[in-house]
Amino acid sequence: MSLTTALDETAIAGLNERFESAAPEEVVRWAVETFGDGLSVGASFGGPTGMAILHMTAQLKPNVHVFVLDTDYLFEETHQTRERATSALNLSNVQVYKSKLTHEQQAAEHGAALWMRDPDLCCDLRKVEPNRRALDGKSAWISGLRRDQSEGRSDVPIVAWNARFGLVKINPLARWTEKETWDYLVKHEVPYNPLLDQGFVSIGCYNCTVPGKQGRQGRWEGFEKDECGLHT
Ligand code: SF4
Repeated sequence: MSLTTALDETAIAGLNERFESAAPEEVVRWAVETFGDGLSVGASFGGPTGMAILHMTAQLKPNVHVFVLDTDYLFEETHQTRERATSALNLSNVQVYKSKLTHEQQAAEHGAALWMRDPDLCCDLRKVEPNRRALDGKSAWISGLRRDQSEGRSDVPIVAWNARFGLVKINPLARWTEKETWDYLVKHEVPYNPLLDQGFVSIGCYNCTVPGKQGRQGRWEGFEKDECGLHT
């Protein structure tokens, strides 16, 4: 079966109708059974939603391809969370993808502190391009978007064809609230980023993340930007 042809608009609409009243675990099970080794999970090891998804997926397929975009500007706590979660969830296929440019090369080509002048370009170089490499050859991508995270995410579908990266994108926790996500983490004792206990709500690069804000408002403060370009 060719998944790209099987999941046409009608099929995707049917899946979304079915999954709107389904538990996220059912969505994850469908994704694992449908896509197998063609499935990738994007994990930032920052926010709580990604940790819940990693736990759900690891129960079914510990060797699922988990990809991490290491921008070179991640908090030390984020690296530590990756190590703890990889061990606790028995994840055996966590792969790290980095920009083709080192921090120094980026500064030489585009100037110092690019994130302060052109964060879209910085995100393109350090997140979007590595994301493309991470998903190369894959047929589906599980992501941790929730509709309550921002206005721009308020209508995120559970299943969609993602033309930008050429694969099916699945957001099993789209319907969940932040509280439901935390309830899941506590119930299953899932490791999470300790910065979430220090006032951070959404955690990305240390250059572009501040605590004490709701939703994604703590990202790219001072810019009309609340997405890095992976999900737009
Ligand atoms: S979040 Fe900030 S530092 Fe990280 S890649 Fe984007 S602009 Fe650059």
